[in-house]
Amino acid sequence: MRVPFLELKPTYEELKPELDAAYHRVMDSGWYLLGQELAALEGEIADYCGTRHAVVVGSGLDAMHLVLRAWGIGTGHEVIVPSNTYIATWLAVTYAGARPVPVEPDLQTYNLDPDKIRGAISPRTRAILPVHLYGQPADMDPIMEIAREHGLLVLEDNAQAFGARYKGRRTGSLGDAAAHSFYPGKNLGAFGDGGAVTTNDAELARKVRMLRNYGSEIKYHHEYCGFNSRLDELQAAFLRVKLNRLDEWNQRRQRLAQIYLENLAGIDGLTLPRIAEGAETTWHLFVVRHSRRDELQKRLTAAGIGTLIHYPIPPHLSGAYAGYGWKHSDFPIAEELANTVLSLPMGPHLSEAQVGYVVQCLKNST
Ligand SMILES: *Cc1c(COP(=O)(O)O)cnc(C)c1O
Repeated sequence: MRVPFLELKPTYEELKPELDAAYHRVMDSGWYLLGQELAALEGEIADYCGTRHAVVVGSGLDAMHLVLRAWGIGTGHEVIVPSNTYIATWLAVTYAGARPVPVEPDLQTYNLDPDKIRGAISPRTRAILPVHLYGQPADMDPIMEIAREHGLLVLEDNAQAFGARYKGRRTGSLGDAAAHSFYPGKNLGAFGDGGAVTTNDAELARKVRMLRNYGSEIKYHHEYCGFNSRLDELQAAFLRVKLNRLDEWNQRRQRLAQIYLENLAGIDGLTLPRIAEGAETTWHLFVVRHSRRDELQKRLTAAGIGTLIHYPIPPHLSGAYAGYGWKHSDFPIAEELANTVLSLPMGPHLSEAQVGYVVQCLKNST
């Protein structure tokens, strides 16, 4: 048996008639940017997340960058970020001209540890950027409380958690704003790049809308030095089709995760994901930990099972941040995670038999 880490083609095959219809609808319309599909998608995303506004942009990175810009965060400012996230979270802060200030995660949930945030706040801090890593919501109540205490803004990085819930509320509606990614491998993925901002703040939504389109609200009137970060009508139409399927697909992931959890419990040296009380994850990734991770990954590869490491190098040790003076042991939890995490195959088109095979191989390899 072969178990690829994630296959994207089956999503097309399952939705082919609807996606093909969307393609023809857009091509026949003769309108390819900033049109009806985008407007409709924005309404549907806002409804889904439970926010008043959604602004669709070119990528998840752009979504974060444009929000920080719209908030006036830049040179001389600091933004608190997790030490163990995908580098895009940090890059958004860097693009805006501000400095990312890493805070270590909780070792149970891998999400930002609220107790450690206070110690990282300085007079230059303007915002906190929690990530709902692997699909599990960060502990937002204490994060919002700390933010309010210190007059900070909160931007959720919801790239991996579209459809998750925290104490019954959707992620994407919990902070002052949220950034979403529609990268093809995400739970709600386009057939190319895409992203969105959700917020209840009308002024912020208006400003991000301008920033994505050359800083303009009225054609050829440019209020800001904006960017070009527009999602085309084809991708918007495809995403509308896929949004209809998202809950069903996230439920399939939940069922597969349950099989992993039930059958992998008690294996020596293997740490399974833990979902906090009140949190509902999207299972974007099913991440285990093992002290001899590299050896385990090799055995699984030999058995035809695709795995990935999210992420092998924490941002503070990557070349991109070499100029910041960080060194080994500065963020030991992020480094420990980088050395031990392993993402098992997960996705809506993985079969229960394939998951069973992964379980069997893991039991034989540990
Ligand atoms: C995918 C991802 C991003 C970036 O999204 P893009 O659409 O690829 O720009 C940001 N943060 C996290 C946590 C991600 O997983």
